[in-house]
Amino acid sequence: MILRRYTMHYEGNIIRPPSEANSILLQVTVGCSRNKCTFCGTYRGERFRIKPDSIIMDDIEFAARYCRRQRRVFLCDGDALIIPHKRLVRILQAIRGCLPWVTRIGTYANAKSLSMKSPQELKALKDLGLGIAYMGLESGDDVTLKKINKGAAAQHVIAMGKKAIEAGIKLSITVLLGIAGRQRSQVHAEQTGRVLSAIDPEYVGALSLMLIPGTPLFDDHQAGDFPLLEPKEMLAELRTMIASTNLSRGLFHANHASNYLPIRARMPRDKETTIELIDQALVGEVGLTPEFLRAL
Ligand code: SF4
Repeated sequence: MILRRYTMHYEGNIIRPPSEANSILLQVTVGCSRNKCTFCGTYRGERFRIKPDSIIMDDIEFAARYCRRQRRVFLCDGDALIIPHKRLVRILQAIRGCLPWVTRIGTYANAKSLSMKSPQELKALKDLGLGIAYMGLESGDDVTLKKINKGAAAQHVIAMGKKAIEAGIKLSITVLLGIAGRQRSQVHAEQTGRVLSAIDPEYVGALSLMLIPGTPLFDDHQAGDFPLLEPKEMLAELRTMIASTNLSRGLFHANHASNYLPIRARMPRDKETTIELIDQALVGEVGLTPEFLRAL
């Protein structure tokens, strides 16, 4: 009897950036090689591993048969760029060979995985179709980065971000509103703006922190050691962050479902009007998304 497969080999939690909603989700790793950030519950308890080549190639063949309308591939999970260069090249070559209609491949990246690739290797990946890397900066403030156990200081993240951009790979950077707590909120906002300006990515997404049960940050909050900012405090943080961010081009989004005031600013054109909009929201002239509509 021939058994027909109706999906690819997926294991565990499969997440992807919102902009990759229509992409072929090719899971090449399971989990995240760091898995220590205090706020992140995505892969908790999951042992990081690279999937066997045979499974990955099988999934690429599956996509060649059944995903002929999708123009993009996203490499899951948390940390696909950590795959050793030669192995990653083989995966991208197979995508190119079997799915010639694919115009862009995306992946998550972090400072560690970028530091393990030379500029020439990143350029080779770009030439094989790697068009965009999504990087969680979370904060540009070193004190906050250390507290959340992100594993990289701001200066190193700047260098790695620039390295990706110089190789021709677009960067989409995520930052977290509220991640520094109340006392460091404004420092976090200013320093994050400074780091974003230095990297100058194509896209920035500001998400509002949501506490995930089972994470160290959630436990700190329960113990009264970490305050969750009020909506207007998050907005004030966003205002400072945008005011401190100078991008030569690109989009600054704060329109994720977890955000209280949806924002989509083309930079640098919309910077001042966006700050004005936030000021209006801060004095109550523009409404915020009510809590019941904020569910993810
Ligand atoms: S935030 Fe990113 S790097 Fe940190 S544990 Fe979660 S997936 Fe891994």
